[in-house]
Amino acid sequence: MARARTIHGTSVSPGLALGPVHVVRAAPDAVPHWSVAEEDVPAEISRLRRAIAVAGDELLRRQRLVAEQTGERDAQIFAVHRMILQDPSAVREVEDALRADRVNAETAVHQLIGKLEQTLRPLEGNSVRSYSADLSDPWREVLAALMNVAQLEQVGQGKVILAAAVLTPQVVTSVERERLLGIVAEAGGRFSHAAVLARAFGVPCVVGLPGLLTRLEQGMQLAVDGGRGTVELRPSEEAIVDFEERRARLEERRASLAERAAEPAQTTDGGALGVSVNIESLRDFDIFDVSHSDGIGLCRTEFLYMERAQFPSEEEQFRMYRRVLERMAPKPVTLRTLDIGGDKRLPYFQTPKEENPALGWRGLRVSLEWQDLLRVQLRAALRAGVGRDLRILLPMVASLEEVEATRRIFDGVRASLLEQGWEVESDVPVGIMVEVPSVLFCLDTLLPKVDFVSVGTNDLVQYLLAVDRDNPWVSKLYEPHHPAVIRALANVAQASRAAGKPCSVCGDMADDPATAVLLMGLGYDSVSVAPYFLPEIKYAVRRTTLAAAEDLAREVLAQDTVEGVKRSLAVVRERLHF
Ligand code: PEP
Ligand code: MG
Repeated sequence: MARARTIHGTSVSPGLALGPVHVVRAAPDAVPHWSVAEEDVPAEISRLRRAIAVAGDELLRRQRLVAEQTGERDAQIFAVHRMILQDPSAVREVEDALRADRVNAETAVHQLIGKLEQTLRPLEGNSVRSYSADLSDPWREVLAALMNVAQLEQVGQGKVILAAAVLTPQVVTSVERERLLGIVAEAGGRFSHAAVLARAFGVPCVVGLPGLLTRLEQGMQLAVDGGRGTVELRPSEEAIVDFEERRARLEERRASLAERAAEPAQTTDGGALGVSVNIESLRDFDIFDVSHSDGIGLCRTEFLYMERAQFPSEEEQFRMYRRVLERMAPKPVTLRTLDIGGDKRLPYFQTPKEENPALGWRGLRVSLEWQDLLRVQLRAALRAGVGRDLRILLPMVASLEEVEATRRIFDGVRASLLEQGWEVESDVPVGIMVEVPSVLFCLDTLLPKVDFVSVGTNDLVQYLLAVDRDNPWVSKLYEPHHPAVIRALANVAQASRAAGKPCSVCGDMADDPATAVLLMGLGYDSVSVAPYFLPEIKYAVRRTTLAAAEDLAREVLAQDTVEGVKRSLAVVRERLHF
């Protein structure tokens, strides 16, 4: 019997995509090492030269990106890196090593990096940014290109649907956004950081498709329905016509929702829900209309750091944050301090390899240990916030001590800026993310110390249910609509209201319109979502009443099971025609 051409998986990001597939091969973690026969040395040298060219192109791409984002001056480092790769003596050294030792190009480049770092390190002081890294970084780029060169060559020029074994941030960013039609993966967490990126880019994405890769050929036509979570292989003419019709209808609907998206999300009986957007990059401003949003509810600053070759200086950060604040003015912008760790790594910052990174050195823990990083970030943010509505949000808070320590640093930074003659706003609100369950039980002591709270349900769910959000083996158990999560959400809203502190949800569960209505009913003031979802949420809120949302909250809170919660939400979805 012929195998079905439509495969059913799990929806990660809605939308429809039709186009050729490109299968991404994951880059290996360790540098591979093998011996090369004498007659194969010329081929290995050509591979090396190709990789140097690919790395040069990649550096040029980043140079342009940074120039566009923060200016030519910041982009100069990439020009320097490109020049380093053109230095004939370094290239000769790698080629000589390759010939003499008859090793693969990866090994020869890896040896050069080791040598550069070894010889130059004693020259450096304690500066976070090292001279040796400036010389070795471009070669790391060559190494990355060597390990991916086949993949990069095959992606070609046109628009593609990416397919991978596991959905990772590397997969999502392996082609330029403009060329990304959709993403399909055999495995991946619906609320993983990679999923967050796919949704932020607004591209359809489906995971949970075991055995998919064995059925694909490079360039094969696919039709992806992100909302339904289906992938059709080699769609027939008829299926394509049907697909195009559905796509036209979807676009029509989105266009009509966009018409009223600038109006506030208010109900006829006095209810209201602030709807802001989450951004990861200055380029996100290209994909949404700032007039639609009530502000930036979450700016994940770590992604701004990730797009660079080194830690951004205070000046660079100042310029990036200022641009975000200017674009949104006079609306509020919530900058979250650096939240690295887990699968969010900075290429130039060595973090330990941890057995259990989700429970490890992440978020505020890193900032409190490397306090200079935090100070620089806060200085830049406070300087950028002059005359603008800036708010600071702290990720991965687990205790009162952490909040107090951060407050002391914040006050110190403010005082020193004023002493140095900088202008600073007198009341920049500082809030915490509710992600670690310990916070749920210490709201009485924490709330008086903060100005607002924002619930990061992506992490809260993983910690509350003990289900790693990035582990595809347990992704079925990751359930934001678990009654424990709903009760936790209700408690946070109730305690915040009682303390007179604004509360919002910025995790991805808020981007489902029925769930957003539920959150309003539970007492949340606002939600912050990937831009794609904003018009639908505003529409959903306008079509309901506060009384109905509160009834829904009561009904959902009375449910004992995930199924029960989902049933109640399904009724709302039906009523709102979603
Ligand atoms: C969250 O955990 O819900 C959140 C918004 O933060 P991130 O997804 O960046 O971890
Ligand atoms: Mg989080």
